[in-house]
Amino acid sequence: MSFIVAIDGPSGTGKGTITKQIAKEMKLTNIDTGATYRCVALAALRKQIPLEEKQRIIDLVDTLSIDMKQEKGNLMIFLNGEDVSKEIRSKEVTSFVPQVSAIKEVRLKMVDLQRKMANGKDVIMEGRDITTYVFPKADVKIYLDATAEERAKRRYKQNKEKGIEMSYEEVKESIEKRDKADQEREMGALTIAPDAVVIDTTNLTIRQVKQKVKKIIQKKQKEIKIKERAYRERPNTKWKLWEQKVIKAFMGALYRLFYRVEIRGEENVAKEGPLIICANHINYLDAAAIVIFTKRKVRFIAKEDLYRIRPLSWLGHIFDVIPVNRGTQDIESMKKCVKALKNGEVLGIFPEGTRKGIARGGKAKTGAAYMALRTGTKVVPVGIAGSFKLFTKVIVTYGKPIDYTEYTSKSPEKETLEKVANEIMEQIIMLTNQGSSCIITKEKNNIS
Ligand code: C5P
Repeated sequence: MSFIVAIDGPSGTGKGTITKQIAKEMKLTNIDTGATYRCVALAALRKQIPLEEKQRIIDLVDTLSIDMKQEKGNLMIFLNGEDVSKEIRSKEVTSFVPQVSAIKEVRLKMVDLQRKMANGKDVIMEGRDITTYVFPKADVKIYLDATAEERAKRRYKQNKEKGIEMSYEEVKESIEKRDKADQEREMGALTIAPDAVVIDTTNLTIRQVKQKVKKIIQKKQKEIKIKERAYRERPNTKWKLWEQKVIKAFMGALYRLFYRVEIRGEENVAKEGPLIICANHINYLDAAAIVIFTKRKVRFIAKEDLYRIRPLSWLGHIFDVIPVNRGTQDIESMKKCVKALKNGEVLGIFPEGTRKGIARGGKAKTGAAYMALRTGTKVVPVGIAGSFKLFTKVIVTYGKPIDYTEYTSKSPEKETLEKVANEIMEQIIMLTNQGSSCIITKEKNNIS
């Protein structure tokens, strides 16, 4: 799978310079999409094809081979094997390219070429429509902006260094004309993608912008790494099963050392077949209590962030915790849950979502209800009562399994899901209260 950094913005925002430097520093393949349009414009100019002969320009594209090579920090552009890196920046090409790039058929061919150039690689790609059209699902999307005056100043200086003769006024006029053409064309117009990070570079140095962009890329790379780690399943080797047993026994002993644990209704957990265990969530230790004290292996569903913390990630892999990206429709996670239930496994879900979700006024989440209705699996509600203060009592009460097969459906209705979710939560609360009242009674009698 490739990693795509897409950068858009008008001319003179420093896209090219920044992209080149970042490509080198972060070992990404640099693709300058503007250069591909410039090559077409140059080829058309060389053949003296006027803009009116649109079809000839379109046909010309099929005869071109465009290549890019990063050499010693410089991006070299080759047109049919010839190095045209400098020529494509000429005044003539610069004023012709917006018109060439406005031809829909040319764009379609160039977009195809750009996607092929990126295929299977980790790339940083800059242009006008990368975040919106070429790679709308890019991993990182950035829009660089700056005032027209500032951009003209930068381009004027750049041209001087490259020996391109143009006055400041000419540069500014050309930039404004290009902005208008880029923003108004029918296809691939320059716009800000709603999910792009916008950086106004007007008062920033190249180094400052580069640092900002690098930070965004590094953050995304880290997130991807964690996600990959979370979704990497450990095969069920003998060693893993042994680890599960040992850790369960060890943590069970620790638990009983620090808390006075009482388990009730264990017989409500069937010895085999799929089950969904739904409990209240008051403390991080309650998930552990269920994993440790349920006779069968319980696969909890937990937020992906758990895998950011090494020891938790290690435990997560041993007990096959299913990661979920909260706040999104995590299809991958759902598929894993359905697969586990079809395999006859036990899932552990906290319908409250977060700790003390209900106590804080939250609504019961419908994930567990969805799994139950989608797969026709029974739900075992569990109430966990206790303050989790050291040496106090923790009571885990398994309720009777609830059968929702009468509602089983591949796509359950929202109302049914909410009804079932509320029902499960009511059962959990009832079981928790049973445990709590017991603690109070015993404390009153000084038994606790
Ligand atoms: O980025 P650069 O200035 O080299 O781009 C040259 C021209 O190519 C732009 O003015 C724009 O008209 C066109 N272009 C485009 N789509 C892109 C990149 C550049 O239309 N993705």
